[in-house]
Amino acid sequence: MALLVALAGCASLSSAHTSRADPSLQVHTLREGYANAHLIVQGQRSVLIDSGLEENAQALEARIREVGVDPATLDAIIITHGHADHAGGAEHFQRLYGTTIIAGTGDHGMYATGQHRDEPMCPVGSVAEGRMEDDRHQTYTPVSIDIAVEDQPLDLHKIAGIQGQIVPLPGHTPGSLVVVFDRFAAVGDLLRGEILGSDAAIHFYMCDLEDNRRDIRALLDTLAPKADVFLAGHFGPLDRSDLEDLLADWSP
Ligand SMILES: [Zn+2]
Repeated sequence: MALLVALAGCASLSSAHTSRADPSLQVHTLREGYANAHLIVQGQRSVLIDSGLEENAQALEARIREVGVDPATLDAIIITHGHADHAGGAEHFQRLYGTTIIAGTGDHGMYATGQHRDEPMCPVGSVAEGRMEDDRHQTYTPVSIDIAVEDQPLDLHKIAGIQGQIVPLPGHTPGSLVVVFDRFAAVGDLLRGEILGSDAAIHFYMCDLEDNRRDIRALLDTLAPKADVFLAGHFGPLDRSDLEDLLADWSP
């Protein structure tokens, strides 16, 4: 698929423009280190999904400007979950620009403390086993949640004027969210892309693998049945067949 080639072709800054439901919708994947943030732009409206590590917040801000969006005009940042590599940059934008922060209530303790060292982290594979202590002890400046997502989906259009839904999907953490819009689904750490190549993989940390498998099935069948581009928190992007392949060959 040409879109995926374009997205995967540049590791640091990649963009895609949709052409189906609304030609003006743009999705930019902004990657700092190993963490993705996804900037959705439609006309004058814009939303950032995830915010990377706190130490990369200024670099992320510069990338947002590079694609022509003034960070002060962001309608919201949606944080898919409370881990430092997704939530860490949010306070920077909230403090400087008063950006509205949307996140799941299940991760409230992480957002309130900027820590997740006491949360369960179950490594999947040797890469995660080697990184776990470092990842567990990452911290960030606490961020206050302006719009909390509890157990029901939230209408993205009401918040940001962009057709879509913010859907709670607990698993990787209790407050994990996915964002479904147009032909895209931003999935946080529900799954990831392979470090090398373009396949989907089970995320580095996942405690209940059967639950994770059910959630990915539900994403494809029920939550995002029209999505064909899946924006992961790490690596990717992925297409529908990548996720089907992962489920067909489910092997932690
Ligand atoms: Zn995570």
